[in-house]
Amino acid sequence: MMTTLDQTVDFSAFKKQFDGNMIMPGDSEYETARVTYAVTDAKPAVIVQPTSTKSVAAAIQFATANSLLLSIRSGKHSGAGFSTNNDGLVLDMSKFNAIEILDEEGGLVRLGTGALWGDVALELGEHNLAISSGDTKSVGVGGLTLGGGIGWMVRKYGFAIDDLTGVEIVLANGSVVRASETENADLFWGLRGGGGNFGVVTTFDFRAHPQGKIVASTITYAADDLSSIITGWRNHMRSATEDLTSFMTLMPAFGPHPASVMIMSCYANDDEVAAAAAIDPLRKLGDSTSDTTVVEPYSEMLQEAHPPQGVHFTAKDMFTKVLQDELITVLSDVCCKPGSPIVQLRMMDGAVNRVDSQATAMAHRDNEAFLFAGFPAPLGATEEQITQSLQNWQKLAIYSSGAYANFISTNTESDVADIYPSDTYKRLAKIKQQYDPNNIFSHNFNIKPAIQ
Ligand SMILES: Cc1cc2nc3c(=O)[nH]c(=O)nc-3n(C[C@H](O)[C@H](O)[C@H](O)COP(=O)(O)OP(=O)(O)OC[C@H]3O[C@@H](n4cnc5c(N)ncnc54)[C@H](O)[C@@H]3O)c2cc1C
Repeated sequence: MMTTLDQTVDFSAFKKQFDGNMIMPGDSEYETARVTYAVTDAKPAVIVQPTSTKSVAAAIQFATANSLLLSIRSGKHSGAGFSTNNDGLVLDMSKFNAIEILDEEGGLVRLGTGALWGDVALELGEHNLAISSGDTKSVGVGGLTLGGGIGWMVRKYGFAIDDLTGVEIVLANGSVVRASETENADLFWGLRGGGGNFGVVTTFDFRAHPQGKIVASTITYAADDLSSIITGWRNHMRSATEDLTSFMTLMPAFGPHPASVMIMSCYANDDEVAAAAAIDPLRKLGDSTSDTTVVEPYSEMLQEAHPPQGVHFTAKDMFTKVLQDELITVLSDVCCKPGSPIVQLRMMDGAVNRVDSQATAMAHRDNEAFLFAGFPAPLGATEEQITQSLQNWQKLAIYSSGAYANFISTNTESDVADIYPSDTYKRLAKIKQQYDPNNIFSHNFNIKPAIQ
């Protein structure tokens, strides 16, 4: 028996039918297990780490029967804090972390939702295969994939979901089904962008790409003439080969580090001459303060990131149809100043644009660029201070054509509307009505079941 905030919950019967770890307040592992990348102060009633689909189903049913808020987690990187809670049940899928090569020649791989993208890149690299996932090793397969996945080869291969061929999922009613283009096709459509709204995915099947080494380039500039650097980068990327994916980060000064512009690029091929031809124009955008190029396995392109210390960041993001001059002027005014946001731009043309925007629940495909921004406020900032810190966002957001679920740290109705265009939302709501009519999976950018 355990008393949570407003109820007494009897865990004994659940424990008997559960395979895996069950971590509760007072257990030695609890202090580590309750913390996620973005949330350090949550106190769930229980964190369960199932090792079988039967136990995933048991956990869903237990949370439902006891009206416990249910949070799902794979790699714990949700910026909006969706993978932990207070007084609820956290369904931690980290034990489902197998990385299987089903057919090396055909590139078919099966990834457990709890596998981390750094480990996936390493393992697939052993077989000369790769999936364009994200930029960080410790991000989980589950959360990134269900949101879309914008990675280091996005211009060449599209979103991570564009290589997804099927999943196994445990539904709200405890049943285990597959979804693909030929099995529960509408559910499969919804899972490619609809996040954790429809059930708990245990495994993801992908068609990985043949991939040898890549050429990684990092060029840093002093933040002197932002407008000219951003414009030059945009102009070059507009005609650059799709082998080249490039992210530009605009950083304010931090401690001893001066404000800077960093362009990181991944050339998805080990042809150094061709890579130099693609990257060299980026070297001429200003006087660089550092410039490194290395031929390396794709797994090395993914890096580790740590939550910022001593400051509260609110993260916002947007797609923009055209990275137009006016927006570049706003960025030049807003960025790289004391207290200004950290902004990253990713060019989004190429493979993403070639998929119809109705083809998946990730509908934002007709854009030239993606932008995300972290707005700093003091630790323990009041709501008012946080709103104040977002003032510059209003100047950028007027150029938005929609948002990407995976980077946003807020969760408002307007965020949901930005993520899902109304036609997409309506279709998702019908799928939600079919698969999760009681909205058990609600701790997410929530799709409300359609009213019948
Ligand atoms: C440092 C950092 C770098 C990042 N870089 C990138 C990047 O380059 N590209 C990019 O696209 N994104 C990036 N992201 C965003 C990232 O994709 C999202 O935060 C994503 O949700 C993380 O997935 P996760 O499994 O680690 O997170 P979790 O916190 O474990 O999961 C997030 C949510 O996804 C859902 N979910 C997870 N697993 C399942 C499942 N098995 N079944 C059903 N629902 C599930 C749940 O709603 C869950 O709460 C980054 C995030 C961080 C913090």
